[in-house]
Amino acid sequence: MRIVFCASEVVPFAKTGGLADVAGALPLALEQEGQEIVIIMPYYKEVKKSLNVNKSKEGFPSAVIGKNIKVYFIENDLYFDRQGLYGDAKSDYKDNLERFSYYCKRSLDLLKEINFVPDIIHIHDWQASLIPVYLKTLLAKDAFFKGTKTVLTIHNLGYQGLFPKEEFSITGLDKSLFNMEALEFHGKINLLKGGIVFSDYITTVSPTYSREIQSDELGFGLEGVLHKKAKRLAGILNGLDYSIWDPENDPKIPAKYSVSNIIGKSKCKGALQELCGFSKRADCILFGIVSRLAEQKGFDLLTGIMDKICKTDMQLVILGTGDERYHKIFKSAAAKYKGKLALYLKFDDTLAHKIYAGADAFLMPSRYEPCGLGQIISLRYGTLPLVYKTGGLADTVTAKCGFVFEEYTEDSLFKCITQATSLFTDKKKWLDLMRNAFACDFSWEKSAQEYVKLYKEAQIHY
Ligand code: ADP
Repeated sequence: MRIVFCASEVVPFAKTGGLADVAGALPLALEQEGQEIVIIMPYYKEVKKSLNVNKSKEGFPSAVIGKNIKVYFIENDLYFDRQGLYGDAKSDYKDNLERFSYYCKRSLDLLKEINFVPDIIHIHDWQASLIPVYLKTLLAKDAFFKGTKTVLTIHNLGYQGLFPKEEFSITGLDKSLFNMEALEFHGKINLLKGGIVFSDYITTVSPTYSREIQSDELGFGLEGVLHKKAKRLAGILNGLDYSIWDPENDPKIPAKYSVSNIIGKSKCKGALQELCGFSKRADCILFGIVSRLAEQKGFDLLTGIMDKICKTDMQLVILGTGDERYHKIFKSAAAKYKGKLALYLKFDDTLAHKIYAGADAFLMPSRYEPCGLGQIISLRYGTLPLVYKTGGLADTVTAKCGFVFEEYTEDSLFKCITQATSLFTDKKKWLDLMRNAFACDFSWEKSAQEYVKLYKEAQIHY
């Protein structure tokens, strides 16, 4: 099949979160399955730094990943030559509707210009969600896309691309589409809703989350629309690119290790403790966090029990950026608990690798989590995840390889942290859990085969 990936961020070119990991790794696994893939993403300032970008013969900036996956970049400096992908430290860019409408339109033009007739356009999140809308409306009679089906993957329903209705003309769509059956959502434009309504198939990134988003609690107001399309909605668990995330072969960590040669992990812990200004104690549990600092990630609970945690015998390193509110709370906690709590308020891939490798346990108490990669990465590094039982966390972590709490309360989180801390003193039991963690297999192969099956179904039935 000829498959186009439209995603607003793709590893190794630009990344703010798990979407980029998936959009960079799934195409590689699909190529292994014999599929022909093209990727289209915006040409951000950050991408321009990449050494591997050249002009394609049609004149587009482009690169190759995998064996022969062409990545095309949509160029428009006015829209994309900026520091951030979606906004700056203070807020989202005001012209995001214009930026991503342009990206969607140009992606479809580009396919014609490079003469790539797709069987499937696999779009990701709200930024690409106008693509199925354009295909089913403005381009409904376009012969070029006659056989093209669309699959939308929702990576996080909490981000829908909401804009004031006054901006609707920017989309270039007929204003009749601003109605409750299409792009209107409580008086606003909702791009993700458009994607859900107009795409042929919808997936989300774990089986549990695909059920949760049809509920009032986690449907973010779109549960009804999703429920209506339940027969065309599937949950496929994200995989992990084990060529990037591999403690045996990771150039970013101070010592290599594996399940059969665990010594290197202690070295990584020692190096991380040194970096953080902690005492180099093997007997003290070291927790790690690598995350966007957003409420979704459970920081309302964690900040509520910060003092209690820091008074126990543990060390904690936090790497993240996000809500100013959490920056402030964590900054003051780090000042108060120097030597126990280290804080890095930035996006730093190398440090992330060091934390996954050096920590004993990984805290990820997300209130909701579509899939989550942090816990899957930490399993790979023999670092036991501590998670709330929700979405992809529920599908990947059990008491055999980590710690799971089932009530979303400060008390339950604290109990779970205490349980991990006390189990850490039993080296044999801890090692057993680590072995189970190393044995988990979340490689992309199986998930890629599920996607191929779903693409075929989309082609036959819709
Ligand atoms: P989400 O996509 O909701 O942000 P995921 O757990 O699915 O969460 O994926 C997050 C990805 O981004 C992981 O690869 C994680 O290691 C990485 N990440 C998050 N914050 C940072 C940071 N501050 N520095 C480096 N990597 C980060």
